[in-house]
Amino acid sequence: MNSDVIVLGAGMVGISAALALQARGRSVALVDRRPAAEETSFGNAGLIQREGVVPYAFPREWRTIVRSALNQTTQSNLHWRAVPALAPFLYRYWRHGTPERIEATARAAVPLVERCLSEHEALIEAAGSGALVRKTGYLKVFRSQAGLEAELETGEKARRLWGVGSETKTDAELREIEPHLTGPLAGGILMPQPWSVSDPSALGKSYAELFVRRGGTFVTADAGTLHRSDDGWRVLRVEGAISARHVVVAMGPWTGALLRRLGVTLPFFVKRGYHMHYKPLGNAVPSRPIVDGDSGFLLSSMARGIRLTTGAEFASHEAEPTPVQLGKVEPIARALFPLSDRVDPSPWLGARPCLPDMLPMIGPVPGKSGLWIDAGHHHLGFTLGPVSGRLLAEMMTGGETFADPRPYRVDRF
Ligand SMILES: Cc1cc2nc3c(=O)[nH]c(=O)nc-3n(C[C@H](O)[C@H](O)[C@H](O)COP(=O)(O)OP(=O)(O)OC[C@H]3O[C@@H](n4cnc5c(N)ncnc54)[C@H](O)[C@@H]3O)c2cc1C
Repeated sequence: MNSDVIVLGAGMVGISAALALQARGRSVALVDRRPAAEETSFGNAGLIQREGVVPYAFPREWRTIVRSALNQTTQSNLHWRAVPALAPFLYRYWRHGTPERIEATARAAVPLVERCLSEHEALIEAAGSGALVRKTGYLKVFRSQAGLEAELETGEKARRLWGVGSETKTDAELREIEPHLTGPLAGGILMPQPWSVSDPSALGKSYAELFVRRGGTFVTADAGTLHRSDDGWRVLRVEGAISARHVVVAMGPWTGALLRRLGVTLPFFVKRGYHMHYKPLGNAVPSRPIVDGDSGFLLSSMARGIRLTTGAEFASHEAEPTPVQLGKVEPIARALFPLSDRVDPSPWLGARPCLPDMLPMIGPVPGKSGLWIDAGHHHLGFTLGPVSGRLLAEMMTGGETFADPRPYRVDRF
């Protein structure tokens, strides 16, 4: 089977890239070993983060670093046995955490983030998946006054520099918005711009179905069989090889490993994360996602129940699940919002695909003709899939790009 382009990976990023290339007249084979949107794009928190300009940076305060390293915080968990392999990546991630570099990253992220809603909206409309989407923003709540004040300061800077909207709420105002919140709160912040979805995988699948309805081909195959052919690239499968002049690697947290096999070494690493669903207690369901700003978890009403997602776990991608953060935050979550029994037999584990400068990688691989990357979206892959796909497709089809693609280039490290 011959196509113009093979896209490897049918998560939010790959599906969106396939749609954008198709919209520009390319024949596309979208390849995954599993059905669409069943990995990271399945288990995330479902936020389309229009406010997400300022990246999740490595902490700079020594006290926080030491507490994190000793696994004394709920925001992160570190596998000490992974430190030798992770150290070079974490060092580079730490170096990108200065205020100047964070500001540079935020500036580079703006052209992508500011288009995330409009690019999703076009696909949501075409896919007929509007019922999954809530345009309600999300709440960030704090029990500690110090946490609230620090966030207000960060929020004020984000408003001034990047136009990120936020509304401060008192304890009483929070309870007007979310009457089921329990326990004393210092206050919170409503982020009004972001959207959220009640089933991230269903949204991804609806986009993949749109791609097929528009004439695209979904192929079940192992991307690990990718190799160069005489005039391009080829992926093997029992039913016969598929080939194309161009291939896009959009395999989320598996991107770095595949590229290494092709002789391309890039500083991809992962931040793992867990989720668990809970049955609602009575009629207590949050009307919009709630982030616990002190403890670093999120609660959101989803198709399967109330989903709790955890912060970052620094570990090898393949290590056995160690959902200790979930164990630590579950009692805090229960004190914040009524939750009944667990729904899932075991916690879901996924991995955020990361690069040290907290920006995605979108563009051609120098020296490897026809090889392209669209990956490394950190905490924002669900948000930025469609807009990244558009930029990639504009680059691949030689059109004018809506933004300068240089901040996302492959050879920037
Ligand atoms: C707990 C958690 C919460 C998050 N919350 C949010 C959020 O609210 N908003 C947001 O924007 N982002 C969020 N993220 C990040 C976001 O989920 C990811 O950045 C995004 O899903 C990555 O999408 P992707 O398409 O790059 O990767 P994936 O969705 O992982 O897709 C990669 C695909 O590659 C396929 N693949 C892998 N190996 C092979 C192979 N050998 N052959 C064929 N196919 C292969 C996989 O099957 C998979 O379908 C969260 C992440 C986590 C872990």
